[in-house]
Amino acid sequence: AVVPIARLPRVGHPHAPGLEIAGAGATVPLTGGGRIEYANLDHGASAPALREVSDTVERLLQTYASVHRGAGWHSQISTSLYEGARGPIRSFVGGRADDAVVFTQHTTDAFGLLAHCLPARTTVVVFETEHHAALLPWERSAARVLRLPAPASPAAAIAAADEALRTRPAGPALLVVTGASNVTGELWPVARLAAVARARGARIALDAAQLAPHRAFSIDELGVDYVAISGHKLYAPFGAGALIGRTDWLQAAPPYRLGGGATATVTDDEVTFKPVPERHEAGSPNVPGAVALATACHLIAGADRDRLACLEAGLTEALQQGLADIPGVTVHRLFAAADAQTIGVVTFTIAGQSSAEVAAALSAEHGIGVRDGAFCAQPLVRRLLGAAGCSSPDGSGHALRASIGLGTTTEHVNRLVAAVSDIASRGP
Ligand code: PLP
Repeated sequence: AVVPIARLPRVGHPHAPGLEIAGAGATVPLTGGGRIEYANLDHGASAPALREVSDTVERLLQTYASVHRGAGWHSQISTSLYEGARGPIRSFVGGRADDAVVFTQHTTDAFGLLAHCLPARTTVVVFETEHHAALLPWERSAARVLRLPAPASPAAAIAAADEALRTRPAGPALLVVTGASNVTGELWPVARLAAVARARGARIALDAAQLAPHRAFSIDELGVDYVAISGHKLYAPFGAGALIGRTDWLQAAPPYRLGGGATATVTDDEVTFKPVPERHEAGSPNVPGAVALATACHLIAGADRDRLACLEAGLTEALQQGLADIPGVTVHRLFAAADAQTIGVVTFTIAGQSSAEVAAALSAEHGIGVRDGAFCAQPLVRRLLGAAGCSSPDGSGHALRASIGLGTTTEHVNRLVAAVSDIASRGP
């Protein structure tokens, strides 16, 4: 069995004190016998909690009480921690002083909330390359959705977004775009897309689920109106995310969920609602999740992020190049390498081999965790595999994804490259 977290040694982050991973150094069993340090190359799915985040949650659970409505001492502490969690999150994304910070369950929920708040007849422009969380929520709202095909380059994305916004029916519009692809790791030209949106009288929402753990950014400087993040990708636990952005659309909409917490008055004849953010946070909130997310944001914001990005770039290059050099392996990208930098997310396939079986072998034989599948971005993965002429023998249309995070070492990357080389050499 995996060693319980409490019994693990504290392993410091070599370059960023304060960013130690809880549970770093855990070992996992190998099918051939023995154990090996777990090489987690699946940060893009969920990043393990930071030690300090884990400690904060543990402490919080000892003075854990209802928020807002309790007069007791512990309720006051909970309320103050919960409300105080909004500030670090707002500054982590470089939000404006008057931007709302609404707690959600995750990015999917944040975009569900934004979709719910769109003014009538809003046109939503979104590329088919988006994660399903950013691609789909608009389909159920009052919006008209213009789904744009995968662009061939960042410049083509800007031109396509501009044209779609220029020729849209009259009325409000929202452009939705990812900061960094969860499939290819490519950074999208957010500032230039924001400028296009502004020039066309539209708003822009940024999916920062992948971007936020890897790069510092400011929605104010980028000219972005809304941003969505997930705690579990930011080294905090599952179940807490946030939508940060302009208040007016959020304030004009009825509550996302109806119930206690969002209501101001309830009589036989009338129900009135509180202002944002409480308006959209009905029900007892996830206090530990919100505090954990704020703690992670605070810790990450306090690190030397340029240095971390630089270290990650070195590991990413070694990973991309190491995999691309293996006969039979294809590393998938949407844009030409010269056109877009990447975060440490690399999607690849081995000719003639089932990605599910490769992922299972990497785990069982090498103690490496990667992801296989279509990464909740089926149109993009289908397109990438089609463009590269790849088809999986099981017809699944699946690929493999290795993703780097704060816990990644050079040994993990080297181990993956050697293991993939070994598996690829066995042939289809
Ligand atoms: N957007 C991107 C780019 C993602 O990578 C993910 C998660 O994989 C999401 C959105 C959805 O995040 P969540 O599952 O936390 O809602």
